[in-house]
Amino acid sequence: MRAIVAHAAKDLRIEDAPAPPLGPHDIRVRVGFGGICGSDLHYYRHGGFGVVRLREPMILGHEVAGVVEAVGAEARQVKVGDRIAVNPSIACNRCRYCLEGLQNQCLDMRFYGSAMRFPHVQGAFREVLVCRENQAHPVADGTTLQEAAMAEPLAVALHATRRAGSLMGKRVLVSGSGPIGALTAIAARRAGAAEIVVTDIADGALSFASPVGADRVINVARDPEALSGFSSDKGYFDALFEASGAEAALRSGIDVVRPRGVIVQLGLGGDMTIPINFITAKELELRGTFRFHEEFALALEFIGKGLTDVKPLITATKPLEKARDAFELASDRSQSMKVQIAF
Ligand code: ZN
Repeated sequence: MRAIVAHAAKDLRIEDAPAPPLGPHDIRVRVGFGGICGSDLHYYRHGGFGVVRLREPMILGHEVAGVVEAVGAEARQVKVGDRIAVNPSIACNRCRYCLEGLQNQCLDMRFYGSAMRFPHVQGAFREVLVCRENQAHPVADGTTLQEAAMAEPLAVALHATRRAGSLMGKRVLVSGSGPIGALTAIAARRAGAAEIVVTDIADGALSFASPVGADRVINVARDPEALSGFSSDKGYFDALFEASGAEAALRSGIDVVRPRGVIVQLGLGGDMTIPINFITAKELELRGTFRFHEEFALALEFIGKGLTDVKPLITATKPLEKARDAFELASDRSQSMKVQIAF
C-alpha cells in the first residue's frame, strides 16, 4: 500500500506502508480520490503552520472518497462495494464539548493528517485506508468520487455560514477566493444571501468565484477603491466571511460591514492587529469558525442532490505517482483551485 508522506518542508515521499488491521467496527476503503487542502500545502511547503510543526513523518490528506473493499465483523451500516466519502474528523464523543454537541471543539480530537498532537494523526492520502464505519457516508448515484471528495471543504464552508446566523436576503462579502472562499460563496447563496461580493489579490483565484455564484469580484490589489466604495454610511455588508487569513483583508472588511454586522473569521493566519474601536462602536460581532461536525453529511447531501455544484472548483487531477507535481500545481493560485490526486 502506497502513501504520500511528508517528512519535512519540500520533502514529500511516496512510500510503502502496511495496511492497518481491520477492527470489528472498521472498514477498509480503496481510496479513489483525495483533494489537497491548504493545510496539506502548509506541511508540504513550510513543514507546518504557526506552532504546529512536523515532528515525525506524517501521511497527508483528509479530503477523500473511495470504495469499501472489506468490513469488520461487527460493521453493519456499510457493505463491500459501497461508494463512500470519509469524514476525517474523529471526536471522542465523551468529553464535555462532545456531550454538548460541539464535536469540532473536542478535547481529544483526532483529525486526519494533522500534526497538532503527537504522535501525529496520520492522514488519508493512501491507497488503502482503514477507518471506523461511522466515518463513512454514502455517495449518491450520479455523484462522482471526485465531487464526493469535496464534501469536507464544503462542510467547512457550511459550518462557517451557520456561524453567521441567518443569511436570508443578506449582503455578503467573502475575502479570499481560494477553495474555502469560493465554497463559502456557494454555501452563502444556498443559505439565502441576496448579494455576494468576493475579493482577492489574484485574478486567477477570482476567476473561479463568478462561475460558482459571486455577483461581483474585486481584485483589491489592483483596485482597492472598488471595495472602499462600500464604506460610506458606516458600511454596506451584513456579513463578512474572512477566508484569507490576511490582516489587511480583515481590516478593510471592518470598514465595509454595516453596524451590527457579523464577521466570521475562517482564514488561519498569524497574529493580527485590528482596529478594535470600530468593532466596539459599530457593534460588530467577530466570530470564529473551525472545521465542522454534522455539516459533513449535509455537504454530501447537497452535492448528491445537485443543490451545490462543486465541479467548477476541481481544476486538476493527478495520479499518485505525480503527487509532488500535484502539490506544486496546487500551490499555484494563478491556475489552481482544488487539485485532487487519483489513487
Ligand atoms: Zn470529545
